[in-house]
Amino acid sequence: MLGGTREARELAEHLEAAGVRVMSSLAGRVKNPALPVGEVRIGGFGGVEGLATFLGVRGVRLLVDATHPFAAVMSDHAVAASERTGVPLLRLLRPGWRDHPRAGKWTWVDRIEDAPEAMARLGGRPFLTTGRQGLEHFASWRDRWALVRLVESPEGDWPNWTILHTRGPFDAGSERALMKEHDIDVLVSKDSGGPLTEAKLDVAGELGIPVVMVARPVERAQVIVQDVRAAVLLVLELLADRHG
Ligand code: NAP
Repeated sequence: MLGGTREARELAEHLEAAGVRVMSSLAGRVKNPALPVGEVRIGGFGGVEGLATFLGVRGVRLLVDATHPFAAVMSDHAVAASERTGVPLLRLLRPGWRDHPRAGKWTWVDRIEDAPEAMARLGGRPFLTTGRQGLEHFASWRDRWALVRLVESPEGDWPNWTILHTRGPFDAGSERALMKEHDIDVLVSKDSGGPLTEAKLDVAGELGIPVVMVARPVERAQVIVQDVRAAVLLVLELLADRHG
């Protein structure tokens, strides 16, 4: 299981409880990661080749990609390694926010590189919630103030930004208080989806704060499930099929 998400930890827990041996893989970006139950390995595989070799050497019967919706390189490698080795691939991908009631009002951009320009057009006191990766694209805003929420410290030096080190979930009350306290006038988010970080979008709508939303990367996996429950059932079915 390629992990690094809450769903991946939940899935590992359910599968282990059902008697399935799970090995979870983490990229190793976070210093104190929340660890899933079962066996855990940490660090990259060395590209498609490395992952394909790993699947063979470890006798992996099913590859589950439960990485974050924006971990596009890893997901593409999973597809390629699955094709190369014949190890079936299941993608666990939570629904995005395209169907959010306010989605039509947001300014959607295809890539994080395009977010700073949209943000600058819409406001002057931004709240950046796109995470540590891709922050370098906001270098044009380095001399101005921004509120930036991250799990880990960012790379580089951002002297004018207020950086909050917090991990979700975040509720509407705290999001409202935060946006009001800092007089936020534009919110920047990735279409990560999921209920744990959704409150900021409702609060932004309520306060009339425009939202810049970075669209998800293209998903190449053939078999996709949207929640942990469906993933558990399909994993059990696929493993039974292959050995039934
Ligand atoms: P990425 O850009 O798609 O992947 C870059 C490289 O990191 C991969 O080619 C792979 O190295 C290694 N890698 C990524 N995920 C891995 C995993 N689960 N196990 C082993 N190696 C992994 O990935 P990313 O966006 O940096 O995300 C890294 C991790 O953080 C993922 O586990 C993801 O679920 C989690 N995460 C990402 C985000 C986000 O916004 N991107 C948010 C929350 C959590 P090799 O080519 O050497 O195999």
